[in-house]
Amino acid sequence: LEWLYSYMLRLRLPGGFMTGEQYVGLHNIAGEHSTGVIKITTRQTIQLHGILKSHVKPTIKAFNTILIDSISACGDVNRNVACASHPKFSPIHEEIFSYAAKISKLGLPKTKAYYEIWLDEKPLLDPKEKEEVEKDPLYQDRYLPRKFKIGIAIPPNNDVDVFTNDLGLIAIVENNKLIGFNIAAGGGLGTTHGNAATYPRLASMLGFVRGEEQTLKAVLEVITVQRDYGNRSDRKLSRLKYTIDKMGVEAFKAELEKRCGFKLEEPKPYTFTSRKDDYGWHKNHEGKWYYTVFIENGRIADEKVALKTALLEVAKTGKANFRFTSNQGLIISDIAQKDKKAIEKILNDFGIIAHTDNAGAMRKSAIACVAFNTCSLALAEAQRYLPSLITKVEPILAKYGLQDEEISMRMTGCPNGCGRPYAAEIGFIGTAYGRYNLHLGGDREGFRLNKKYKENIDEPAILKELDELFERYSKNRNSGETFGDFAVREKLVTF
Ligand code: SF4
Repeated sequence: LEWLYSYMLRLRLPGGFMTGEQYVGLHNIAGEHSTGVIKITTRQTIQLHGILKSHVKPTIKAFNTILIDSISACGDVNRNVACASHPKFSPIHEEIFSYAAKISKLGLPKTKAYYEIWLDEKPLLDPKEKEEVEKDPLYQDRYLPRKFKIGIAIPPNNDVDVFTNDLGLIAIVENNKLIGFNIAAGGGLGTTHGNAATYPRLASMLGFVRGEEQTLKAVLEVITVQRDYGNRSDRKLSRLKYTIDKMGVEAFKAELEKRCGFKLEEPKPYTFTSRKDDYGWHKNHEGKWYYTVFIENGRIADEKVALKTALLEVAKTGKANFRFTSNQGLIISDIAQKDKKAIEKILNDFGIIAHTDNAGAMRKSAIACVAFNTCSLALAEAQRYLPSLITKVEPILAKYGLQDEEISMRMTGCPNGCGRPYAAEIGFIGTAYGRYNLHLGGDREGFRLNKKYKENIDEPAILKELDELFERYSKNRNSGETFGDFAVREKLVTF
């Protein structure tokens, strides 16, 4: 008898987009092959958990029938490319959004193994033919030293948390035209408890690239520099952030420019004013409607409300697309004016609009990784615990009149940082079951990491600390000052 192996499958969804028809397929596949919970990740894609070994191939085959794959969603390659979630507020957003698919294609391995192993496609038997088809100028015969993440932000919203990516692109629009991107490299949040050589880092601004050709060339060559210079002897120190710090930003940039064959221009000015999802109804320049649903920690299930059933009903109308966000949210999108009422009725009938409207400000901006019981690296709870912690924190916020403050709180079950806790105003990083390091001082727009404030504390200590901190904040903050900025000004943490 074999062990009862079960697996997680993550999809490749550049920019987090799928059609309503694909969503119906996703719903059915989740029900048939996994735990049934559809988990929206922090990088705009979907994970299904609890897929038994015998179901892995049928799951992948089923996704293939709806034209979705999981190629490069894991492994030492360029992962799912994230892009600002509201791509259709203007024609420019649509154009920028198309870069997610272009970059995703650029970073795909050439091997056909996925199709041969999982989809039973005929192997390329002739070695010469195989060599020709699978010649891979990017990954060659060695892939990357470690995973590689790319995010595209469209100012003024930084919902992709662009500086936490190995490579971040910030769209620059002038006179209503996309002229190119500022590029920043070397972001990454994962650390290891007890290993002082590891650290979270935000990406360093390298410069501006103009037009599509320069942009795609620069993206490709940032990856090749990491491929050739990244640390392959210690996986803990192999992300691009360590490569850049080892080389120095200027030397890295010089190597990049040499490979590109052109110089990067000075970065163009831009502003970020927010990182959050805009919940509720919005209309774009074409008169199409969007509804952003609150989905706590990205878990689509029928729990507090019948969210999973409601979204299936919406998808079955064929009148909306689905766009997942980097905040573990969902935008029901591209709804024609004539169809808005029908979609709204479904959302109202299932209590989704009330659920979204009634969620508190902190809960709506919170993020938690999966952690227990599905992530084998977890040391502590995250998505199963953060909602109940927030329920205990909300009365404290109310006590000090802070209930409408959109203070970002993020939690992960280990220091790998999947829920980006190091980039939050309040970050919890699991250290052991029921215990967390408490970090403070991130900003709201994603320009500053936080710092450790308290180590290895349990729930009573967390609530006591937050009570004291919120009291101080309510009494001593400057006008309009965020909690993260207050923590820095008051030197609760030092940099
Ligand atoms: Fe990522 Fe760690 Fe959370 Fe697992 S427990 S999802 S590795 S942050």
